[in-house]
Parts: sequence; C-alpha cells; structure tokens
Amino acid sequence: MSENKAYRELTPYLERIMALQTAQILFEWDSETLAPVEAAPYTARAVGILSESYYRTVTDEKVKELIRVCREEGGLTEAEDAVIRELSEEAKQLDCVPAEEYREFAELTAESAVIWAKARKENDFDAFAPTLEKVLDYQKRFASYRAKDGQKLYDVILDSYEKGFNMENLDRFFEKLKETLVPFIRKLENSGTEIEDGFLTGDYSRQKQEEAARFLAEYVGFDFSKGVLGESAHPFTTNLHNHDVRITTAYSDHVDDSLFSVIHECGHALYELGIPDELTQTLAGQGASMGMHESQSRFYENIIGRSRAFWEPVYPRLQKIFPQQLGGISLDRFVHAVNKVQPGLIRTQADELTYSLHILIRYEIEKMLIEDNLPVNELPQVWADKYEEYLGVRPEKASEGVLQDIHWSQGSFGYFPSYALGNAFGAQIYFHMKKQMDIDGLLREGKLAAITDYLREHIHRYGKLKTSRQLLKEVTGEDFNPEYYTDYLIDKYSRLYGI
Ligand code: ZN
Repeated sequence: MSENKAYRELTPYLERIMALQTAQILFEWDSETLAPVEAAPYTARAVGILSESYYRTVTDEKVKELIRVCREEGGLTEAEDAVIRELSEEAKQLDCVPAEEYREFAELTAESAVIWAKARKENDFDAFAPTLEKVLDYQKRFASYRAKDGQKLYDVILDSYEKGFNMENLDRFFEKLKETLVPFIRKLENSGTEIEDGFLTGDYSRQKQEEAARFLAEYVGFDFSKGVLGESAHPFTTNLHNHDVRITTAYSDHVDDSLFSVIHECGHALYELGIPDELTQTLAGQGASMGMHESQSRFYENIIGRSRAFWEPVYPRLQKIFPQQLGGISLDRFVHAVNKVQPGLIRTQADELTYSLHILIRYEIEKMLIEDNLPVNELPQVWADKYEEYLGVRPEKASEGVLQDIHWSQGSFGYFPSYALGNAFGAQIYFHMKKQMDIDGLLREGKLAAITDYLREHIHRYGKLKTSRQLLKEVTGEDFNPEYYTDYLIDKYSRLYGI
C-alpha cells in the first residue's frame, strides 16, 4: 500500500480507469478478429459509453484534486510517480476536448474501420473519403485544443506518439533516409544480381502456416499460457496486461508474410510480457512509446529474424512443415529470398530496405493534410505520384494505394513515423548490443532467451518509467542517431547483393 494518503484515495479511480481501458481494448481486439460484420454500429454505441465513462473518470475534479495533493504530500515511489505523471498528462489532453466530441469521435472510429474495410475490398476511395474527412477534422480540432502557444498541429499530434520528436527532427531524419536510400536502391536494381524467391509463393496451406507460426512464436519466446495467436486482416498485438498479450497474423499464399509478421508481433508481445507485475495494470505499465515498441518488433523481425544465424538451427524444422515447397531449397537460397529487395506498392509486404520509404511517403502526406490542408479527394493522386518518385512504382487501384492501411480510419495520424523511428532505434541498439554479446553465436545455438533477457533488463522492465529517448541514451550511451540505421542497411544489402 502506498505511503502517500492521497495516492491511496486515488487508487479506486485508477482501477476504474484501467478496467474501462481494458474493456475498450478487448472490444478492439474482438472487432478485428471475430466480431460479425453487422455488429459494428451496435457495438459502437457500447464503446462510446465506455469511452465517455473513461473520459469522465480521468477528468473528474476529485481526481485532479488528488493529483495535486499527491504531489504536495510527496513520498511517492518511482512507479507511483510515473502513474501520476501519466494520469495528469492524460487528464490535460482530455480536458481540452469537450466530453460530447470525445464520445462522438470514439463512435465514429468504431464505425469507420468497417467503412474503410469495405471501401478497400471494393476498391472505392470515394466511399471512404467523407468518413476520412470527418476523422481528420476531429483530429485537427483536438490538436488545436491541445496546442500550446502557436505550436503547429502536426507537432502536437506527433508528440502524443513520440515525446521529444517533432517535424524539425523528423524532417532531418526522413531527409537522411531519402538522400541515402533512394539512390542506393537504384544501385541495387542496376547491380544485375537476381534473387529467386518464387518458391515463397504458392500452395502453402493455412493449417501448415499456422503450425509454422505457432512454432516460431514459441521459439522466439512467446508464452502461450499468457497469450493467444489469432487471425486478422492486418496483424497486430493487443495488450491487456502482462498475463494476457494477444497477437494476430494473416495467412496468404506468400508464406513469408505470415512467418515474419508472427516474429514481428512476438517482438511487441515480448515487450509487454516483460513489464513487471508492479507496473502492469497501471498507467505506466506499457511500452515506453510506439517507436520503442516498433524497435523491439522490428529488431526481432528483421535484424534477428531475417539473419542466416537465426535460421541455421530452425530451417530444417520449417522444411519439415513444408517438404514439397522448401525441401529442395537450401538455407542460403531461403535467407536470400526473405531478404530480396523489391520496391512495391504495399507497405506491409515491403522488404526491410524499402520499408522506411513507405513511411516517408505517409509522413509527407500527413504533413500536407494537417499543415497544408490538402483536400482529401486529392489523396489518391498525391499518393501515386510519390510512390512513382521514390519507389518507381505506381498504384493502379486505391486498394493497393491510399486505402491499404487502417491507421487513418482510426484517426491515427502521426503514428506512421514511429515505424521508421523504430527501425532506427533498433539498429542503434543492435550496434551497441553487438559490442557486448555475440548475437550471431547465440542465434546459431538457438539461445534467444539471452538476447530477450538483455532487452528485458535494459528496456522492457521500465515500462513507461522512462521515455524512449532516455532509454535509448541509457542503453547506447548516446542520443538518437539515424546513422546506425542507414549504415546497417547499406552494409547488409551491399553484402547480400555483392556490390
Ligand atoms: Zn508493429
């Protein structure tokens, strides 16, 4: 029990906040996995009421009063102090939005995911555009309520995902990626090296893919007594607390999509499973930020999961699951194939090298939508032009262009940059870890636990006690430095392509 009397009085409110949050998260998981199509508008009403109740609890005058007294009284533990900081920030964020608008927005996004999914399926951007415009208007309005002295709206939005990162430093980061990677990708394309990956596509049964997915999840350390593996159109991870972390994958005829999305989601899950008991089910009991989360998932998926050393001990097992498709394919051919660079249209299918250019495009477009008021109906055109310019490919259909991602339908503007930052954080952490442990050696011996233990010790166990920037500094001894990421990519792909 807390030493601080006001904190003890605050506890029932904190528990209520957590319960309401958990219920909403569970509805999100359900609507993405098992809920029937027609449920959405009805469920949206229940979600709207839960979210209004959450809003009222966080912004309750009594809660504000107790936060103030808690701070005056002092004597809080580090975890309590972090909970008070998160609660007070959340209260400030919500307080500037009228309750009615907050509820309307929750209802709108619960429904808009379904409208988006239908529009994508029918390849009909016009069917989604009016909803997208509404969602965007809400987000701009909310940002304007939150903006402090002349702060730009997109900066307000970015800060809610990644503290300490705004347009100024993201412009610099993405400029560096553009300058380095666009010409490098052209160079690879002109290198004359052809990588054969046709065998990754074909008649891979859903059932066998699920067997492989479960095997890989367990192999990287996902604990099935504290988690489940489901199926959804877009793979994602849902975290209720450190004893219930759920991941999904999607099965297609490209076997590598499901294999690597499972490893990716396991990276997220290991982070949440590594949150200590004293932090879980508190406002400080999740990963530090979206970017730090992506650093973990991408570290497992790409840096580790696509390395030869990772597959050395487990490739024979994969061949056993798919004897007809992979039985005659050597380990080297497999590893080359899963690292093939192919500028394409779909972000979630992008290779590791071109991935961040998909994010660069979304970052530039979000800036245009929010800062330059780009009309929503011009999106398909702007999208196609940018793909042509940076990746040399042009979408013919909206479903493989601007309609491919769920994020904007949920109002998640400002989320995409976290993916690219995560890649860069991961490479910086990797560079540092390699100085302390023989990562390839551990992978060859199948000792993934040693790698996860390191991350748990230096990152996971802190939850939100520290920001991503602080964690990065403490783990690597320096501030964010994107050079590690571009160097890592150029080194890896120069070797793979023999240039
Ligand atoms: Zn992810």
